[in-house]
Amino acid sequence: MISEADGRSQAAEWGPAVSEPLVIVGNGMAAARLVDELAKVALGRYAIAVIGEEPRLAYNRVLLSSVLAGETASHDIELRPAAWWRDRGVTLKYGCTATEIDVGRRELKIANEESIGFSRLVLATGSTPLRLNVSGADLAGVHTFRDSRDVDLLLTLAAQRKRVIVVGGGLLGLEAAYGLAKAGAPVTLLHLMDRLMERQLDAPAAELLKSLVERKGVKVLLNANTARLHGANRIEGVELTDGRRIDADAVIFAAGIRPNVALAEEASIAVNRGIVVDDHLQTGAPDIFALGECAEHRGVCYGLVEPAYEQARVLARHLAGRAAAYQGSVVATNLKVSGVSVFSAGDFIGAEGSEAILLNDASGGAYKKLVISDGRLTGAVLVGDVGDALWYLELIRSRQPVEGIRKDMMFGRPRALPSQAA
Ligand SMILES: Cc1cc2nc3c(=O)[nH]c(=O)nc-3n(C[C@H](O)[C@H](O)[C@H](O)COP(=O)(O)OP(=O)(O)OC[C@H]3O[C@@H](n4cnc5c(N)ncnc54)[C@H](O)[C@@H]3O)c2cc1C
Repeated sequence: MISEADGRSQAAEWGPAVSEPLVIVGNGMAAARLVDELAKVALGRYAIAVIGEEPRLAYNRVLLSSVLAGETASHDIELRPAAWWRDRGVTLKYGCTATEIDVGRRELKIANEESIGFSRLVLATGSTPLRLNVSGADLAGVHTFRDSRDVDLLLTLAAQRKRVIVVGGGLLGLEAAYGLAKAGAPVTLLHLMDRLMERQLDAPAAELLKSLVERKGVKVLLNANTARLHGANRIEGVELTDGRRIDADAVIFAAGIRPNVALAEEASIAVNRGIVVDDHLQTGAPDIFALGECAEHRGVCYGLVEPAYEQARVLARHLAGRAAAYQGSVVATNLKVSGVSVFSAGDFIGAEGSEAILLNDASGGAYKKLVISDGRLTGAVLVGDVGDALWYLELIRSRQPVEGIRKDMMFGRPRALPSQAA
């Protein structure tokens, strides 16, 4: 049994005497959803303990951007209240780092504490933001954007009107830049590529997004390759490889993430970029599983929450002894930047042999592209109006023929399928 630590843990007794000890490392979004799913399909079978490094209850990490933008309060993003965990008999320890897995003895070591035993272990350790490998990357004033402690720090910078450079024009960088600008900081966004969010958007959609973000006060520099960070002790500015130099009081790296695999690697559990798992989310070690951003399934590490939720559902069923297999996820991006909704799914560029249906209203702030291949919808990009995003995603996932609705599909579900409209 685990003891209370520093008054920060919500401790509960292990479940019924017959319950097997199941330990989850990481108290993030994947872990919380796994407990949720287990409560539905295997209530009482496991005595669950969750060990989390962050000093608070599991929260919706996706909403950190809204907290930064002042649209949501930090305490409102908790996924479940303390009583919810207690009612399910979960021993919840937060502010505690798991440091070592002893695979043979089936024990997990926790920093500054004794080990705890497990019959099943689940790794849900998420990712760490990457810092560019350039000189000055470790100067004071250089930060990342991953957890609620980072948000507190960024809000302090914005309140002091510090000049901030955000490095990275993907989803995270855009959200950090928008949030900081909205909170009052002068922000420059540097992006290596010639368009924003190149992994989710085609060129016209990215151009529209750029103009909408700039209207919100974020200065965007494309083709901006960071050469080094300047400063004696603290950050003073960024120099680009083309010689441009931008002064700054703080730099936020939002240039990618790396799955947290160290615990598995040190226990000689197979790891590539992520912890390698099979269709049951099982690692190379017996009774040790992994899910969420730390896991690699069929060569893919997902950086989004939806695949983690699909994995949680499959793993819970598997742990309950039911038939279930994870086949991979069709990823979709649904986000709001500067009040602009953006959606992208599937083959949004359009592979050879595919066709695209387009609507491009740059001054009206709307862009829509549907990619069709072999009579099926295979990809979509929407900027502005994303009202039909989930319908398009369903069409992509189900691979159903769309020839019959092709001419009306662009105008949304009610027009394409009037008989099914509510
Ligand atoms: C600002 C922001 C905005 C995002 N927006 C979106 C979005 O719009 N859409 C989307 O799909 N995704 C978004 N994401 C990504 C999404 O949040 C992640 O995909 C999701 O949180 C992954 O869940 P996870 O449980 O695998 O990892 P996490 O939620 O990161 O949880 C992992 C937890 O494990 C803990 N941990 C790690 N190592 C240890 C250890 N040794 N011992 C104990 N605890 C440990 C970590 O501290 C962390 O709390 C966003 C992420 C961020 C940061």
